[in-house]
Amino acid sequence: MTTPRPPFPDIQSLWQETASHRPAFDRLSGGHRFDVAIIGGGYTGLSTARYLARRGLSAVVLEASQIGWGASGRNGGVVSGKFRLAFSDIASRYGLETARRMHDLGIEAIDHVGELVSDYGIADADYRPTGSLRCAHNEISLDGLKKEVEWLRGSLGDHACTILSPEEMEAETGSRDFVGGMLNTHGGIIHPLNFVLGLAAGLKAEGIAIHEKSAVTGMRRDRDGVVLETTGGTVSARQVVIATNSYSDLTPATSAVRKSLIPFRSAMIATEPLTGSFLLSQGRSYTETRRMMRWFRRAGDRLMYGGRGAFGTADSESAFAALEKAMVRQFPELGSVSVTHRWSGLVAMTMDSIPHLGRLDDRVVYALGYNGTGVALASNMGRYVAAMVAGEAPDLGLLTSEPLKPVPLYPIRKPAVRLVAGWYQFLDAIGR
Ligand SMILES: Cc1cc2nc3c(=O)[nH]c(=O)nc-3n(C[C@H](O)[C@H](O)[C@H](O)COP(=O)(O)OP(=O)(O)OC[C@H]3O[C@@H](n4cnc5c(N)ncnc54)[C@H](O)[C@@H]3O)c2cc1C
Repeated sequence: MTTPRPPFPDIQSLWQETASHRPAFDRLSGGHRFDVAIIGGGYTGLSTARYLARRGLSAVVLEASQIGWGASGRNGGVVSGKFRLAFSDIASRYGLETARRMHDLGIEAIDHVGELVSDYGIADADYRPTGSLRCAHNEISLDGLKKEVEWLRGSLGDHACTILSPEEMEAETGSRDFVGGMLNTHGGIIHPLNFVLGLAAGLKAEGIAIHEKSAVTGMRRDRDGVVLETTGGTVSARQVVIATNSYSDLTPATSAVRKSLIPFRSAMIATEPLTGSFLLSQGRSYTETRRMMRWFRRAGDRLMYGGRGAFGTADSESAFAALEKAMVRQFPELGSVSVTHRWSGLVAMTMDSIPHLGRLDDRVVYALGYNGTGVALASNMGRYVAAMVAGEAPDLGLLTSEPLKPVPLYPIRKPAVRLVAGWYQFLDAIGR
């Protein structure tokens, strides 16, 4: 059952405006007991609830704001199974089998998006498995893409990637800026907010407990497990799952994981509807090869353009203006088109650029650190979180073998992010 509700007042996203259903969930009140309590109502938390229920465990999802308020409701909707590290780099540093496991996990996660859409009938998520295109901004980057394609074929037997010529790139994107590119038929695009809302509605229909406006403000151990305090009630559970990703600093309850995450603001703009435009005609997702990556996609008849957001805790006009300028430089025909939506959110970076699934102790499991690529990975993560809760030891390559490292000098993480971003911009500017 769905009820109309006002959009999140603090996010002016295109997804908010075009969200088609908003299932309602009560605030938690009084005292309750579950097998497992999940902190965070995004893809990770909801996916975890789905797979715990399949194992016959009772679970509650506790969301501080509204379902999808975090990154899951405001991201770019790019469905990808990649990690920030290239699979060839993973193989050379950690071995081919580790790279193969993570590659398989990425493909599984992409397929799983289609499974969720179909299981819960989320047609308005508008999932399009159209693949992705990496757009090379210079010959050095194109060489890198060519090597990656060869390596994927030769070492992992993945033939989904092909190299495109500058002419093919122009036909695909409508831009003459690119010296070539890599087309990957895995993945696609989705309406991320409808996806997370549809997932929550489906779980609710299955009888899974979900509460909004129920921030977990404290967590304490007792003889039988853990007691979570929320703003309206308490939950006793045998185990807890932390699924708060880049929003792990909302309350002290999740402070144990917060110091391992570097929040990085990612911003997006969307144009007014374009009439008769031939840009991005195949409706894929598109990323540039620059280090300070910019990416773009179509959302219906609009064009969305994303990249680094403002440093600090709030949006800034100058960060959005920089995005708009970059968009028009890329697609000069958009010079006279209005930008109607501007929004941002926090991406959770980790020290090793890899997401992590692990245990804090015998009662608390965490899954987080998607480094900006979590639509598919986070929404598939629940099956492995549930396995870990049940006492199994799933093998997700580096996601489970490597420890979640604390960020050194955590108090100065913000100036450090600014410094690294400045260095990357410099390297991009000089074409390295
Ligand atoms: C602007 C932006 C663009 C992105 N684009 C893409 C993309 O195109 N493709 C892609 O694959 N990935 C993208 N990502 C990353 C992706 O959105 C995330 O990796 C993914 O949504 C993480 O899901 P999650 O459930 O782990 O976290 P979230 O969706 O962030 O959910 C965490 C939730 O925890 C809640 N919470 C925090 N503390 C508490 C507490 N104490 N009590 C209760 N609840 C709490 C928060 O309110 C929040 O809703 C993007 C991210 C951003 C920010």
